[in-house]
Amino acid sequence: MLKQHLQELQLQTTPFYVYNIDLLRQTLQNASAEAAKYNYHVHYALKANANAPILAEMLQAGFGADCVSGNEVKCAIENGFKPEHVVFAGVGKSDEEINYALEQDIFCFNCESSHELEVLNELATAKGTKARIALRINPNVNANTHKYITTGLEENKFGINAWELESVLDLLKTLENIELIGIHFHIGSQITDLNVFKNLCTRVNEFQEWFIARNITLQHINVGGGLGVDYYNPDANLIPDFAAYFGLFNQFLELRPGQQVHFELGRALVAQCGTLISKVLYIKKGISTNFAILDAGMTELIRPALYQSYHKIENLTSDKQEERYDVVGPICESSDCFGKAVMLPETNRGDLVAIRTAGAYGEVMASGYNLRDRVNAIYL
Ligand SMILES: *Cc1c(COP(=O)(O)O)cnc(C)c1O
Repeated sequence: MLKQHLQELQLQTTPFYVYNIDLLRQTLQNASAEAAKYNYHVHYALKANANAPILAEMLQAGFGADCVSGNEVKCAIENGFKPEHVVFAGVGKSDEEINYALEQDIFCFNCESSHELEVLNELATAKGTKARIALRINPNVNANTHKYITTGLEENKFGINAWELESVLDLLKTLENIELIGIHFHIGSQITDLNVFKNLCTRVNEFQEWFIARNITLQHINVGGGLGVDYYNPDANLIPDFAAYFGLFNQFLELRPGQQVHFELGRALVAQCGTLISKVLYIKKGISTNFAILDAGMTELIRPALYQSYHKIENLTSDKQEERYDVVGPICESSDCFGKAVMLPETNRGDLVAIRTAGAYGEVMASGYNLRDRVNAIYL
């Protein structure tokens, strides 16, 4: 698809992100149709990509917003999400962020510690309002993904551990301006083994029993996000298998009458629609490899440097014989490398290179390190 738009791409100043809005729409239609089969509610995790045109599509698809900072809550509301469709998670919500979200009367705070509950209660009391909350529980389920994107193990900072729940419930009885409406789980990201979600369901069912034994019925269960995408063969799997994903929860999650299920998908919805386009600046001979030095670096896409993640790299403008390259950026860090020993058609100065599957946790993580310019975006 990118090669069809080559002329348009060649007119842009590199580096830049290009988003395929048709693909995004198809992905969202598929996800929303599969979720609708079971009456599931999806909140889009804004932190994956918060560009206005992307948010407009999420809104159009009927999704709510999952936020992890006050500015994300603000961004969601300014882009048209109704406060009653906004949830706010995060281990370190500041007083200013909480106050703003209280003023907006968002749907739910996903709370991660008893200390946070006390502060939230204090701030809600001061405003004469009541905060709806879900307890984010750490289910101790291994997501089998990179350790930097694993969040549901007891060694992680996220959520309330099982052994603390009893004392949290005792505390909640004393907090008059807090209303418990749900429980929340988010065990990690880029999860490609669906068995992990089956294990999550088993744990969620156990927690449900625990709450019911204490006469607490929860209005909703929020199972978070984390569904992975295919970074190796994007074209073969442009749209994740939402049917299998939602179907699995339908099969294994035990619900009580009237109970809602909420999901918070980020990566699976936007990763494949985004590509980082960069120009080759130099070719440099190494001892056992050639370096293709791009004008994009870890400042535009940090995932390879941060999580050792793989992105498929393509040369859009050469069809010569393949050679082996280390594809690197211009930033003064050895980790500023997009791929080692990548087979590419013979690559020369001025060639356009596409770094695929970059729609999630790409542009939004761009930084100004080395005083780099802000990266542009175009939409096809
Ligand atoms: C990041 C995050 C998500 C989204 O994760 P994906 O892997 O992008 O689906 C959902 N919920 C919470 C609380 C998060 O922090």
